[in-house]
This record gives sequence, C-alpha cells and structure tokens, in this order.
Amino acid sequence: MLKVIQEEQPWYAEGLRFECTGCGQCCTGSPGYIWVTTQEIEQIAHFLNLTIQEFSHRYLRRVKGRLSLLEMPKTFDCIFLKDKKCQIYSVRPTQCRTFPWWPQNLTSEKEWRETARGCEGICPNAPLVPPSTIEQQRALQEQTSHEY
Ligand code: SF4
Ligand code: SF4
Repeated sequence: MLKVIQEEQPWYAEGLRFECTGCGQCCTGSPGYIWVTTQEIEQIAHFLNLTIQEFSHRYLRRVKGRLSLLEMPKTFDCIFLKDKKCQIYSVRPTQCRTFPWWPQNLTSEKEWRETARGCEGICPNAPLVPPSTIEQQRALQEQTSHEY
C-alpha cells in the first residue's frame, strides 16, 4: 500500500499581515548585530564611494569572526540610521531587507506576536503577505546567514 505523506503546513499557511511603515524601529532599540557579508560590504563601500579599507575602519566591527555594522554607543541606533531613515537603503544588508521574515521570528505564532511588539508594520490592517513570499524571504535570510 502506498503511503501518502502529507507535507506539514506552516502555521502561517494563510499568510501574514505586514507592511513596512518605515518607522525605523528595527534599526534601533536594544544592542544587537547587523551582520554583513563580504559582497554586501563591497556594495555599501562602493555606494559610499569609499575603499573597503576606509569603510571597514569607519563602519564595521568584528564579533566572533563575523562582521557587523556599528551601532551608536548610547542609543544603539545603527550607524546608518539618521532621522529614522536608512542612509544606505538601496544597498542595505540582507538581514535588514528580510526583516521581519527571519527564521526565528517564524518558528511559532507566539514568536511572531513577540516580533510584532517591536514592529508596527505587523498589524491587522496591513496587507496579507502570501506564504510563498514569506518562504522566499526566510530562505534568503537563512542562506545569507551561512555567508557571515
Ligand atoms: S520596525 Fe517594522 S515597520 Fe518599522 S521600519 Fe522596521 S520593518 Fe518597517
Ligand atoms: S543598514 Fe539601514 S536598514 Fe539596516 S539597520 Fe542600518 S539603518 Fe536599518
């Protein structure tokens, strides 16, 4: 007899409501890391018209073998956050592009609700994002995290 294996649906199989308002809250708050890959560093340095060496000296720190953008000392704002706007928006790192679709935020509805506490774009009035888009973004973040 053939066994039919049903793929388990994620808890967000019907999609999740989100639209970024550009509030900048995910670029500040508590201390954290804004991981960047070598390729992203090259892109941002080029965008800022800096050499990799200049860029690294001004904007990067090394943490346990990985590289992160700097944060401001007291506010913990990302160093590229000015007046609640990202100064490198068109070349921002994948970690920023894929928020809030990070694997850890999608593990359960509880985690998603927790994420929503710090992101006003996750709200009942926001457009419904289909699971295909969520999976694509989540996979992109997962894949990039292996390059840090
Ligand atoms: S916290 Fe949410 S709504 Fe605000 S900028 Fe970040 S992703 Fe957009
Ligand atoms: S690079 Fe831009 S989007 Fe990413 S944390 Fe910094 S200010 Fe925010």
